Amino acid sequence: MEHVVVIGSGLAGLTSAILIARQGLRVTVLEKDEISAAPRTAGSWVRPGVGQGSQTHSFLALSSEILREEAPDLLAAVHAAGVVDVVAPLQVDGSPEPARPVFDRRLAYEHVLKEKALLETNIEFRPGAMVIALVAERSTSVPHVRGVEVRGAGGETCLVHADLVIDASGRKSPGRRMLEQIGAAPMPEEAHRCDLQYLTRWYRLDDGCAFPNRAAPVRGRSWFGSFLLCAAGDRQFSISLVLSVEDPLRHALREPAVFDRFVASVPRLAEWLNLASATDDPIPFAGIENRRRELVNADGPIVARYLLVGDSAMHTNPTLGRGTSLAFRQAQFVARHIATALAEPDNFCAAFAKWLRQDIGFWFDSQVFADAELCERLRALAREEELPALSHQGRLGLAMQMLAPHDPRIACQGARIFQMLSKPTDVLADETTGRAINEFLAKNPGLTEPREGASRALLVASQHG
Ligand SMILES: Cc1cc2nc3c(=O)[nH]c(=O)nc-3n(C[C@H](O)[C@H](O)[C@H](O)COP(=O)(O)OP(=O)(O)OC[C@H]3O[C@@H](n4cnc5c(N)ncnc54)[C@H](O)[C@@H]3O)c2cc1C
Repeated sequence: MEHVVVIGSGLAGLTSAILIARQGLRVTVLEKDEISAAPRTAGSWVRPGVGQGSQTHSFLALSSEILREEAPDLLAAVHAAGVVDVVAPLQVDGSPEPARPVFDRRLAYEHVLKEKALLETNIEFRPGAMVIALVAERSTSVPHVRGVEVRGAGGETCLVHADLVIDASGRKSPGRRMLEQIGAAPMPEEAHRCDLQYLTRWYRLDDGCAFPNRAAPVRGRSWFGSFLLCAAGDRQFSISLVLSVEDPLRHALREPAVFDRFVASVPRLAEWLNLASATDDPIPFAGIENRRRELVNADGPIVARYLLVGDSAMHTNPTLGRGTSLAFRQAQFVARHIATALAEPDNFCAAFAKWLRQDIGFWFDSQVFADAELCERLRALAREEELPALSHQGRLGLAMQMLAPHDPRIACQGARIFQMLSKPTDVLADETTGRAINEFLAKNPGLTEPREGASRALLVASQHG
């Protein structure tokens, strides 16, 4: 039986492993972290390999759709553990109802997938196994990867043979270094920095309390950036604030009292805060970027029998929560074409790269564009300068948000774009929607984003007080 090695047991690695194992192949998952049996709260589950593990996650309808298509039992399991979004209107024109998005802690969602992976007879899971190098044969025009070198928790090393290596080792993939070591041509890479700071605080409902409504996620814009509240399994919810890394307010907001002062100043958030107690202090996350790595250059593939899947191939600033859907889409493609990936490894590397650009490249490119605008606006807020004018795309998006509460069709189309089920061009091609948006924009030439909550001055004063 042919053998596939997966580097990393994050969401991309576990999903790839399960889908490939179910095609009848033997799969070994190598994970550098020592992963214990996991209690659901992140505070008691140490997972250094997943830096974003404690940040808010929402799992969009596209990720649920892919699980439904490929492995409905996985969708049922993540739905059972988390909170299913039953509010977002996603069905258009009599089309089938898409699988519902789900909210949960990142590590809890991963735990569900890991439990499923452990039930697969074709999967061997090796925690505490860090991949340090690739093993390749050089008799071919580009290196063909034939295995990996692994360092165990005690420092011992060993080689693991593979017919295909899937690098699902996340944003900080050692792929570039490992490819250099086997003599591959430099890996083409594109990176766009996002000077954003995330601050996330977790809460648990007090005894006898229930979530105040089913309207989560609660999204909005503050006077310094934006906020997001998402429910999660086990009576938990998180609130994340996003602001510029330049904003001095980021220091004040790390103080739990100042963070909650802001939350209490937004009635839509305060109604949740009043029913719960915090379980953590605000957890910061920065160093965000949109990065795409490719294994093909102008001359063709630079390597064979080695693929990047998930964040290692493409990761996006998480403001729009696209990472898991992008990762699952890649895992789905590789699993569906696994026979070709093994039989024609050079051709497959090129075909996968082409598909990545054509199928999901749009979501990466649109994120890069939106983030450049977002970062510029948050920087202006941080410097207390006048906001730059919104781009045409920014105005279209804002118009859809403002029309949604009054127009169910636009609400549905907006939700479908957000959930990655439709592209904006598909929606704007709809004559009625296009006309409604254009009329709204014509009537509101100076459109500005509504902002909520305590002012900067009030928050700074509360820090000193
Ligand atoms: C702040 C933040 C918020 C986010 N919010 C969302 C959201 O709301 N919705 C969403 O869909 N996505 C979100 N994402 C992205 C999402 O977390 C990822 O896209 C998704 O988890 C897929 O990641 P992955 O499996 O590719 O990598 P990871 O989750 O990073 O997993 C990589 C794994 O590889 C292991 N590893 C690394 N190197 C080695 C090695 N050499 N040997 C062995 N193992 C190794 C690591 O320990 C880890 O287990 C967010 C990301 C960030 C940063």
